[in-house]
Amino acid sequence: MEKFEQIFTIVNEQAEKFEQQDMTYLDGVLAMLEGTLDGKFSWHVEGATKEDMRKAIQIAILKGMRKNTQPNHQMTPDTLGLLVSYFVEQFYEETLKDGAISVADLALGTGNLMFTVMNALDGKISATGVEVDELLIRLAAATADLIEQPVSLYRQDALEALLVDPVDAVVCDLPVGYYPNEEVALDYELCAAEGMSYSHHLFIEQSLNHTKEGGYLFFLIPAALFESEQAKDLHQFIKKHAWIQAVIQLPEGMFASRAHEKSILILQKQGTELKAPREVLLAKVPNMANKEALAMFFQKVQLWKKNK
Ligand code: SAM
Repeated sequence: MEKFEQIFTIVNEQAEKFEQQDMTYLDGVLAMLEGTLDGKFSWHVEGATKEDMRKAIQIAILKGMRKNTQPNHQMTPDTLGLLVSYFVEQFYEETLKDGAISVADLALGTGNLMFTVMNALDGKISATGVEVDELLIRLAAATADLIEQPVSLYRQDALEALLVDPVDAVVCDLPVGYYPNEEVALDYELCAAEGMSYSHHLFIEQSLNHTKEGGYLFFLIPAALFESEQAKDLHQFIKKHAWIQAVIQLPEGMFASRAHEKSILILQKQGTELKAPREVLLAKVPNMANKEALAMFFQKVQLWKKNK
């Protein structure tokens, strides 16, 4: 058995015991992780890495989410997290050579996206996460402690006033849909002129509010983001405050249906001494199993970066 499977087996057995005592499986996973940190459960898998731990916890959380489906319980899959890590590394290559960056995710969820990026760039990221759901943020907090990654967490509506200092970069798998608090939405340039505003639009604006000038923002967006009836306003807003660096389409096969398809949107917050990129990188990630096509995709990114 691989190390992450050994860890999963331990977490799973204890979560199932909790389940028999009338807890949901997901609450059981949380109780197991928090109990481990409190010293209530003592276990050890020799030679396990931070990635083994993250993957094992991720599988247990996914199992819990499948058992009790809730609309806001979604986790960013590893393939997407790894692609985002690749782009963060590319855009911050120079800084990361002998420095670190601060990164925020205002829709942290279980933290799987953030922790995938942090483990990939281990020791180079200090993170801030905001999440409204209590169970998800507690899972994220326990995971961060177990994989020893430095994260400051805020349990709140990320679209309300945030006490977060501007960060170097943002990663975010945007929550998609209408934002119910119309009063808070009024504080945003992207507040809809009529009817309810889109959460995903407001999250882009709020993320830019908390990013330093010149910082990059890596969003997982609905593939049809620029096709809605409010897309014109979003376009104008982005043009005013940021530069689109890249729009990366993801392979269709990765998603359950057309409605669930996502792309990666990379923005740079405008700054007085900075310039827009000469060309926006428009690329499509091929099927991950096609090694040759994948190599060509990475070559295209490198070429764009050289001429940027
Ligand atoms: N990247 C996350 C992960 O790997 O687990 C998944 C993010 S999920 C697509 C979007 C998250 O946004 C959900 O966890 C949801 O609870 C959270 N969310 C939605 N609206 C929010 C709000 N107004 N403030 C804070 N979090 C919010």
